[in-house]
Amino acid sequence: MSMLDIENLGVAYGPLKILKDVSFSLEEGQWLMLVGPNGAGKSTLINAVAGGTAYTGRIRLQGRDITGMRPRERARRVGVLAQRSGVGYAYTVEDVVRLGRYAHGRDPKNAAHIHRALVQVGMEEKRDQSVLTLSGGELQRTFLAQVLAQNPDLLILDEPTNHLDLKYRQQVFELVGKWLQTPGRAVLCVVHDLSLALAYGTCAVLLKEGRVMDRGVPKKVLSRENLLSTYDMDVAAWSRRMLGQWNDM
Ligand code: ADP
Ligand code: MG
Repeated sequence: MSMLDIENLGVAYGPLKILKDVSFSLEEGQWLMLVGPNGAGKSTLINAVAGGTAYTGRIRLQGRDITGMRPRERARRVGVLAQRSGVGYAYTVEDVVRLGRYAHGRDPKNAAHIHRALVQVGMEEKRDQSVLTLSGGELQRTFLAQVLAQNPDLLILDEPTNHLDLKYRQQVFELVGKWLQTPGRAVLCVVHDLSLALAYGTCAVLLKEGRVMDRGVPKKVLSRENLLSTYDMDVAAWSRRMLGQWNDM
């Protein structure tokens, strides 16, 4: 089944066109990697799907236009880990994760979802700590637990591991891979590390200046030619040089 259909999406801030005629689809079971240089419009696209940005064109979630969906209904279907999540209040870790359950009302399974999400991200022991006192990585894992507790069908992650050290980076990607094994789910993820896009993505969309440069299987989308024209560098040569340093360690 189709989880997300984006057709001719356009977003503008005043006269400035940020997204232009963007179209792609995401099927159940797929992990779509949204890639492209800084400022390409990745976060803008995610904000449009999350309902925070006015747009032209059409966005359908599981076949239904999102403009006709109430916020709670949308929140039961799609969970978004935004690029910049902050908190201004002295909530505890558990309070923040519990907010992920708001769309489910007084579901008796709320406590179990919260507990499982805390354990999955390794924040169970810090559940009573104020989020104002967390490190950047701990805060990011807390927000990840919030979207996991939400139990959506479509998980949208905007640079989910940018504050995390390598161990948690690996954990998050492995965790999302396991999460995706349950039927009826899909992932849309923004990553800067193109090796991660190759390793974990089942498909990819490459954005350049608000347009889709290419889409399809990651190996095709991340071709040398495509990356030369979007990033203006030979990404593969650079990545090989970086990784080659480990060969004789
Ligand atoms: P990415 O996530 O790919 O790095 P963004 O979607 O965050 O890119 O931003 C795309 C472009 O839109 C950038 O040039 C950014 O400055 C611009 N932009 C984002 N939000 C706004 C806004 N609220 N008002 C004006 N311009 C914005
Ligand atoms: Mg961004």
